Amino acid sequence: MSRLNFALERESGGSKARAAKFQTLHGEVKTPIFMPVGTQATVKGQTVDSLKTTGARVLLVNTYHLLLRPGPEVLKKFGGIHRFMNWDGPVLTDSGGFQIFSLPHSREMNEEGARFQSYVDGKSHLLSPESSIEMQKAIGGDIMMVLDQCILSAAPYVQAEAAMELTHRWAERSLRARADSLQAMFGIVQGACHHDLRKKSAAFLSELPFDGLAIGGLAVGETQRERYELTALVTGHLPKNLPRYLMGVGTPIDILEGVHRGVDMFDCIIPSQLAQRGVAFTSHGKLRLRRSVHKFLEQPLDAQCDCQTCKQYSRAYIHHLVKSDEVLGWHLLAIHNMTFYHRLMREMRESILHDDFLSFYEKKRLDLARTDEENPGRPPKKAKTSQPVRLGDYEIHTSAQGFSSIRQISSGEVMHSVNRPSDEANKLYVEQSCLASRLLKRQAPADELVIWDVGLGAASNAMAAVHCFERCYAEKGEKALRRLRLVSFECDLDPLALAAKDPGRFPHLRHSAPFQILESGKWEHASSLLQWELLTGDFPGFIESATIPDLIFYDPFSSKTDSTLWTAGIFARIFKRCLPKSAELYTYSSSTAVRVSLLTAGFFIAEGAGTGPKSDTTLAFTRLKGAGDHPLSPRLLGQEWLTRWRRSGSKFPTTLSNEERPHFEKLIETHHQFLAIPEN
Ligand SMILES: [Zn+2]
Repeated sequence: MSRLNFALERESGGSKARAAKFQTLHGEVKTPIFMPVGTQATVKGQTVDSLKTTGARVLLVNTYHLLLRPGPEVLKKFGGIHRFMNWDGPVLTDSGGFQIFSLPHSREMNEEGARFQSYVDGKSHLLSPESSIEMQKAIGGDIMMVLDQCILSAAPYVQAEAAMELTHRWAERSLRARADSLQAMFGIVQGACHHDLRKKSAAFLSELPFDGLAIGGLAVGETQRERYELTALVTGHLPKNLPRYLMGVGTPIDILEGVHRGVDMFDCIIPSQLAQRGVAFTSHGKLRLRRSVHKFLEQPLDAQCDCQTCKQYSRAYIHHLVKSDEVLGWHLLAIHNMTFYHRLMREMRESILHDDFLSFYEKKRLDLARTDEENPGRPPKKAKTSQPVRLGDYEIHTSAQGFSSIRQISSGEVMHSVNRPSDEANKLYVEQSCLASRLLKRQAPADELVIWDVGLGAASNAMAAVHCFERCYAEKGEKALRRLRLVSFECDLDPLALAAKDPGRFPHLRHSAPFQILESGKWEHASSLLQWELLTGDFPGFIESATIPDLIFYDPFSSKTDSTLWTAGIFARIFKRCLPKSAELYTYSSSTAVRVSLLTAGFFIAEGAGTGPKSDTTLAFTRLKGAGDHPLSPRLLGQEWLTRWRRSGSKFPTTLSNEERPHFEKLIETHHQFLAIPEN
């Protein structure tokens, strides 16, 4: 007998969409339903009251995170999550499997379960079907999920089959571990993109006494078309009398397509994640509140929305909050976005109950495909027939040599286009800065080396530094090592989020650190000697407040795409900030315009090593002594360069006015660097 008393109310003609209801220990749930994600027993930035005003009914919480912190003892003391977080509605707990399997380097796996190291205190934990269910019982959610083995959707047949069979054995163990608990439990259909495995998995799990069935292993690298196809295939093989849950999906369009294919339940972090990036879903497309078109607008985000944000605040105010990186900005945007999601679910349910879903679907999919139509940022692109894997303004680009990089769609610029990203990061930044020998030059226990990683991108440079640190740690041990503080700056996390979806193509991301950075903006090495933090927002806003660096890995988009980060003004602010230390800046650019901007800002400039077809790069020092002491003895630009510069067509940065030129010229001609070095 099902613990949920699932009742199918209606199926809509011409579609597999269905409306249903079921009973949980904390009340009734009507489907289709969207479940906001409360990772750490909180939906980021929301109170229980604000969540309720958005229309939230069921929350999803992450067993993995709650197991590590606050831990089962605290939850048991409170009698479960409901009293702990003051939420009286239904809760669904995931099994923790997804998080464990996203961290391939920090766990070992076998038939018993997966052993992994806590990111909180470094302790070793075993996640097995039994321990996952025990933790889920301590959390006391209304619906528990079995532990499954997640693999990339592109996994080959043999691997996908083995993972599916293990998932089946674990499903049976999970049911035994639940015993007579009143909490409901869902099985998870696996099988990657292999149709016969998916059918086999659906058939096997349908025979077991589950209260619902989920489709797992999607939204992890497959194309949208594959996702829709597999969803339809699986729902076609699931029993009608149980709820169906599509895990981790997705965007409003993905949800609409999922309902059309017979799914009842969804969860995703997108509404609050995009709110954090200043994006609002509206009835006329997505709005990017960071854009200055909103600066003076008195209207709400969406005139058709009745959420607390739209009732009370103008776009101009939200634009201001977003630009100022105020928490209230994304709190208000998240309220709006979640209301948007819950409203969409309600509208779908009503159209199904009126047997009118198909026409709703046809109209809505066009509405949802729109993006900020009132104020297009760039001309609309032609529709492509095959969609590459993309996120926001970025897509995965594969080079002729077979390695993958991230490309910005609007500018066409590829991050690390010439060499494998991890090779370039190593050569240009880690080796050239002699990072390893600096890390091993410890003077006092508190002595700390600070690196600014400007332009996190897909984290190639930051991970090259992390790997260098870990090599030194493995070879020389804790006592020999200096503390390292790595500070990354990035205004758009889409490139990393996109690459993280497919670590198979970005080997440097097969590590827990970048996933932690995406999730919480912080990561710490188990020894506590390496702290990595992410500062989200425009880099210039942090120059005066971020910890003074010793080394700067300067790797933003090129001046063609983002000119603001390459001006003499920005370099002068960096120079001033670094003055208390002898600091060094490394960058891939060797353009005359960039070098003169650095010179006029006060830096001493040397030629850096070339990477691939690039003949040289640029090193900048705040002190002349810094260049002299450098272990690689880089060559400072001398009279020869100065002579070339005098004749150069691009002698001045294009931003410089005619009146400013003589002063600028004098700064270069009288730069200490050229006075101090005799002609050779
Ligand atoms: Zn609203």
